Amino acid sequence: MRQIDLLWDLQGLDSRIGELEKELAVYTGKKKLRELKAKFDREKDLLKKDEAALMEAIKSSKSNRGRVQELKYNFEKTEEKLYSGEVSNMKQLEGMQKNLEEMQRNIETLETAYGAFQAERARLEERVKKSRAKLKKYKNIFDRLKEEYLEGEKKAREEYDELTKQREELVKKIEDWVMDRYNRVRLGMDTAVVTIEDGKCGGCHMEVSVMYTERLKEDEMVNCETCGRILYPKKINGGNNG
Ligand SMILES: [Zn+2]
Repeated sequence: MRQIDLLWDLQGLDSRIGELEKELAVYTGKKKLRELKAKFDREKDLLKKDEAALMEAIKSSKSNRGRVQELKYNFEKTEEKLYSGEVSNMKQLEGMQKNLEEMQRNIETLETAYGAFQAERARLEERVKKSRAKLKKYKNIFDRLKEEYLEGEKKAREEYDELTKQREELVKKIEDWVMDRYNRVRLGMDTAVVTIEDGKCGGCHMEVSVMYTERLKEDEMVNCETCGRILYPKKINGGNNG
């Protein structure tokens, strides 16, 4: 095998290794998982507040009912007394009448408040229900994603280790000056080795000059004079793999 063929294989390995490194960084960074967790926590805080407010609304409703019951009882008792004929004192009767009116007003105020408590209660119950459903959904997505990440990381890690081993073996067969050249070009380029297509550099698509084509026939490693990438000549004179 020519050095350039080994280099071509090396580039294939390096580009896959690069992809795997990015993939592994996603798995270890766990950004999506952390985002989901934050969303979950925010929703949980909201739920706690809503649940507390709901408890308050229920408590207020109950005490409201208690007070209304008490007032209604007193109202009836006063009314009974008023029409029983037991009281004949005019001033006392007037006082009782006034008392009844005031109790009536209080009952009405409490009934209005009760309506508001009930509406608030219904609103909060709906929110709590939705919040709980959301939390369940987030939890499911989180668990599934976590599982996916674990599996993905394991798979990517295995492939990464395998390719890294292959790379080590391959690098042993590549001469130092070739490696140097490859590493230098790779510093500034996405790809260091490119094929020649229709007489043009596969990287920058500029014509490869005749002189370069001649040099390539001698199996020399030649860089594109425009972009500096290493040109990879496909085996024109038949397979000479060795
Ligand atoms: Zn080029």
